[in-house]
Amino acid sequence: MDKDIVPELLESIQEQFNQRTYDSKKLKMAINKLRNKKASYLDVNDFAIEIGNILADVLSKNITVDVLPDGKMYFNIADRVLNSTMKNNHSLISDFAVDVQTQLNHEAGLRLKGQAPELNQDRIDGIINRVASENDFDAVKWILDDPIINFSQSVVDDVIRTNVDFHFEAGLAPKITRRVSGHACDWCKRLAGTYNYHEEPADIYRRHERCRCTVEYNPKDSRGIQNSHTKEWRSKRQQEKIKQRKTMNLRKERQ
Ligand SMILES: [Zn+2]
Repeated sequence: MDKDIVPELLESIQEQFNQRTYDSKKLKMAINKLRNKKASYLDVNDFAIEIGNILADVLSKNITVDVLPDGKMYFNIADRVLNSTMKNNHSLISDFAVDVQTQLNHEAGLRLKGQAPELNQDRIDGIINRVASENDFDAVKWILDDPIINFSQSVVDDVIRTNVDFHFEAGLAPKITRRVSGHACDWCKRLAGTYNYHEEPADIYRRHERCRCTVEYNPKDSRGIQNSHTKEWRSKRQQEKIKQRKTMNLRKERQ
């Protein structure tokens, strides 16, 4: 049987990743802003892109056709390497974003803690399956580049989504802003803007390849009174929740 390459591979990936993140000026800048209570979701976005960039870079340096058995990234290799490294990215970005959210909450006069999102395992599985589906790693190695950065950005979106929802349920009227970055295409330009929660375009959190558009949330802008539309949403949601709870109780009784 061939030697299992994963333990050594993971060790060198983690070591290089730790060194690169430790040395990163961009990460230091973002962390300093948080420390000085000046951080916003734009800093979280920079933080996420940098973490994503570093991981993509380290993966591409360590995973090559030469080191892979038969030049293929078998499922059991992709599964272990990507689950471990992408989950780590999720934790680092989510932790930082939650700290920034807590700080933004306090600055807006809200005594609320930032809420952490759930890990989006489906996205990780999607990348693992795609990479493992190809016999020739060279044909899919691009997936360990931009999609890793895209995944890292999506963690920020998940934090925003979770907190906006939390604030909405708490009776605030959150607004979400999407901004274009760099050379934006027409699709991105159309999505840009500031929206009341539940009135945002369905694609507000979607990004095409190499899209660096940012989504932001500052609870300072959510202190207004909910308008009739959001009120309607709220009561609909509450009714759904009551219904859910009732069916759950029913299930429990049957057990
Ligand atoms: Zn874009």
